[in-house]
Amino acid sequence: MKNGTAGLHGRLGGSRPSCEPSPGLVSPGHPGMATILVVEDQAGLQGALRINLRARQYDVLTARTGREALALAASQQPDAIILDLGLPDIDGTEVIAELRRWYSAPIIVLSGRTSPGDKIGALDAGADDYVAKPFAMAELLARLRAVLRRDEGSVAHDQPRQAIIGRWQVDLTSHQVTRAVPAADQAPGSPAETLRLTPTEWRILELLLPRPGQLVGSAQLLTGVWGPGFQQRTNYLRFHMARLRRKLEDNPARPRHLLTEPGMGYRYQP
Ligand code: CA
Repeated sequence: MKNGTAGLHGRLGGSRPSCEPSPGLVSPGHPGMATILVVEDQAGLQGALRINLRARQYDVLTARTGREALALAASQQPDAIILDLGLPDIDGTEVIAELRRWYSAPIIVLSGRTSPGDKIGALDAGADDYVAKPFAMAELLARLRAVLRRDEGSVAHDQPRQAIIGRWQVDLTSHQVTRAVPAADQAPGSPAETLRLTPTEWRILELLLPRPGQLVGSAQLLTGVWGPGFQQRTNYLRFHMARLRRKLEDNPARPRHLLTEPGMGYRYQP
């Protein structure tokens, strides 16, 4: 395969992948800015995937290792993940198993391993589809569209950026907390009361508030806020959640909005 000729019918993932986008750009059923995390340690192939996905209007995040992948998935919440199994640090199948503790969007495995055992292992761990290398870009893109279609409706794509907690309005975009209900003794026309949160508190709210009513697992919160390797540090979460409740809840001892689900995680209840 010559550079620059990896079109829709060329195969990628061999020894010399091309970085040129395939012809035939935006297809009907346009994905609408879905964010795709590409986890691939082979630089040429990662570049080819990035360019082809961007050419189809996807937002693309890239990771080279399993640890980077877990951290990015937790902090950025991509709409789907394309994952190589042979990574330099953690085996891809373990990455899938770890992701599936808290990540529910589609995962497509891209792998040079083609034995039935490898495929079954990845699918059992929680992958939605399996594409063997070398692969045709057109086929991978078609499978990606298929898993995203299946996932539609189950994921809130337009996540709310504002939430009310007790008397406070929390704006995740401007990072401001203002009093939604004016204090009884507030003089008319005086500026609204505000509240300061720490960067860690904002990171926690970024993960909780866009999913009203949903359980967000402790492992997801810990990985999203502190990074991989912190999944066991549930005491960190307890500490910061207690502080958030003291700041935001009307009665921190009996929270109504920032709820603990014992042994599982936390839930924002509007
Ligand atoms: Ca690899």
